[in-house]
Amino acid sequence: MALIPTLSNRPRVLVVGGGYVGLYTAFNLQKKIAKSGGIVTLVDPLPYMTYQPFLPEVAGGNIEARHAVVSYRRHLKETELIQGSVTSIDHGNRTAVIAPADGGDNFELTYHDVVVAAGAITRTFPIKGLAETGIGLKTIEEAVALRNQVLSLIEEASTETDPAKRKRALTFVVVGGGFAGIETIAELEDMARDAVKLNHRVDQSELRFVLVEAMGRIMPEVTESQALWVVEHLRSRGVEVLLNTSLDNAENKNIKLINLPDKSVAQEFDAETLIWTAGVMANPMVRSTDFPIEPRGRVSVNVNLQVSGEFGVIENAWAAGDVAAVPDVTGGLPDGTCVPNAQHALRQSKRLAKNLWASRFNKPLKGYKHKNLGAVAGFGQWKGVAKIMGIQLKGAPAWLAHRGYHGLAMPTMERKIRVLTDWFVTMITGRDLAQLENLQAPRSTFVSAATPKPKPAAAAPAEPAKAAEPAKAESKEKAAASK
Ligand SMILES: Cc1cc2nc3c(=O)[nH]c(=O)nc-3n(C[C@H](O)[C@H](O)[C@H](O)COP(=O)(O)OP(=O)(O)OC[C@H]3O[C@@H](n4cnc5c(N)ncnc54)[C@H](O)[C@@H]3O)c2cc1C
Repeated sequence: MALIPTLSNRPRVLVVGGGYVGLYTAFNLQKKIAKSGGIVTLVDPLPYMTYQPFLPEVAGGNIEARHAVVSYRRHLKETELIQGSVTSIDHGNRTAVIAPADGGDNFELTYHDVVVAAGAITRTFPIKGLAETGIGLKTIEEAVALRNQVLSLIEEASTETDPAKRKRALTFVVVGGGFAGIETIAELEDMARDAVKLNHRVDQSELRFVLVEAMGRIMPEVTESQALWVVEHLRSRGVEVLLNTSLDNAENKNIKLINLPDKSVAQEFDAETLIWTAGVMANPMVRSTDFPIEPRGRVSVNVNLQVSGEFGVIENAWAAGDVAAVPDVTGGLPDGTCVPNAQHALRQSKRLAKNLWASRFNKPLKGYKHKNLGAVAGFGQWKGVAKIMGIQLKGAPAWLAHRGYHGLAMPTMERKIRVLTDWFVTMITGRDLAQLENLQAPRSTFVSAATPKPKPAAAAPAEPAKAAEPAKAESKEKAAASK
């Protein structure tokens, strides 16, 4: 395996993944570890941390895409950064294998401590046509693509004369009625309505938004009465909310929905856009490690965020966030672990950094404890729902709470300022409805211009002048007749 001579040979704290947990752990440890003669190394396939709660707002055009990500280079100046994926960890030998993002040869990295923070990936089911038609909402690239797709389809439909094609272009389906799904459909619907206001060849009644949820209710994070209010609110906006319904097939962009539990056909229609937000699962990369994995595929950790299994604590191995089964001493999921959300991930990273540092001096470690503060969700301009420390809010107050909470939670002051500025500008000037075209093939116009054109065929010998006269006379007659 290749060796990278430019990498540090100091004792390493290897952080696998730079999401909430990875970014904050590296940030909180980098100076201390550097002063003690070691180094924090962060490995992530991307050069930035993505603030995932903002993805629906990026898709809806309220936040500029780049403002919802945090550059590692800018904010982790004392951390060694490697753009790549950790493909396996052999903790027995304190070694990880890295696959560089540029496709180069895999290489090994040794470490003293490892922090597993590789998060979660979109969980899907084997549904025919889903991979070809669908798109998730877990990355900034997906959010940007969705925004462009919705706006482009409205534009395309406005010149489409085939009613079936027009209907297909203007039908948008979201599968999954959790926070991500509800926020996504609400933001996209809000944006689409604004776009149609500016396009007189499309009528608002032609837009069709369908939310598909397999359970009998949406948004388990809020109370049942609030969830009912959200359903009514979405329906009042024209969104079709289908509960106890599941996606059965999406081949050739034909969406087949079935009722649950009897699996009878609920609806069948064509849709150009299918967004899948029906859950996440722990990053399967952890299965290529020698760490204990619990039944739901997460790394087992104790309350101090140390990896631990039936044989006790595994020294120098730590994990937190969506990839870890962190005991929740205040309640949490039915199995007694923390729900996978940013609220926990952020706080766990801070506790993890403190415990890792304390472990260096054999000081006592402190258990992670955080009672969920509640939840906030935005559904487009001035619309939202929130439950904060038992207080329930709807509409504009909830929307302001959503913005206030996430504005403060966005990592780094520099990014906070950019996001707050985006919101302020949107409130004054309205939503930015410009879509970027041709992102998949940005060089196509240049290639076309730079490609030598075949020489035009040699001109045919000119007709005798007399032969042209009758044609001219004929066209003059036609012009006179039409006057
Ligand atoms: C659309 C959406 C909306 C959300 N809204 C909310 C909300 O309103 N409130 C809330 O509390 N939570 C929300 N969440 C959940 C929240 O974002 C996650 O719980 C949180 O990001 C988890 O943090 P993490 O650090 O564990 O993982 P992540 O933030 O997912 O970070 C994981 C990192 O690991 C990297 N990685 C992956 N594989 C590898 C590998 N093999 N090697 C190295 N690095 C790897 C990834 O690139 C990523 O940077 C939302 C999530 C989504 C998708």
